[in-house]
Amino acid sequence: MSLQKTLSIIKPDAYKAGHTNAINSMIENAGLIIVKKKELQLTKEQAQKFYSVHSEKPFYDELCDFMISGPIIVQMLEGKDAINLYRKVMGATNPEEAEENTIRKKFANSIQENAVHGSDSEENAVKELEFFFNEN
Ligand code: ATP
Ligand code: MG
Repeated sequence: MSLQKTLSIIKPDAYKAGHTNAINSMIENAGLIIVKKKELQLTKEQAQKFYSVHSEKPFYDELCDFMISGPIIVQMLEGKDAINLYRKVMGATNPEEAEENTIRKKFANSIQENAVHGSDSEENAVKELEFFFNEN
């Protein structure tokens, strides 16, 4: 298993609720290193671009509005098998289906307001890290 980098986002719901430190402890306890971190607020255009793969989905507009509803934290994570490992730590998209001791089981409000984002493939990790950090 190779050393990988992946993009993590603490979404507006989790940021607003003050879960950032608890989430980052779970990330670090899993053996992932937070190499870069910044706080920002997405514009509508940025949110639409970031989630453009979902542009045909019925939840796209609502998702973009949610993602610009408050500040977020974007982070570069690094570790062995980081992409899949972080997806495991996040848990299923729908918190009702998320396993115990996952971020989404603990902190997600709904399938939309689900606390965190994580890249789903090496190709997307490179693209998403470039989107926020201009590097990979
Ligand atoms: P993410 O890409 O945020 O890491 P994911 O890969 O688990 O999450 P995707 O299928 O890529 O899930 O969906 C992207 C995001 O869109 C979800 O995290 C969630 O916020 C929102 N979403 C997904 N499905 C729905 C739905 N059925 N209704 C409302 N929002 C949804
Ligand atoms: Mg996804």
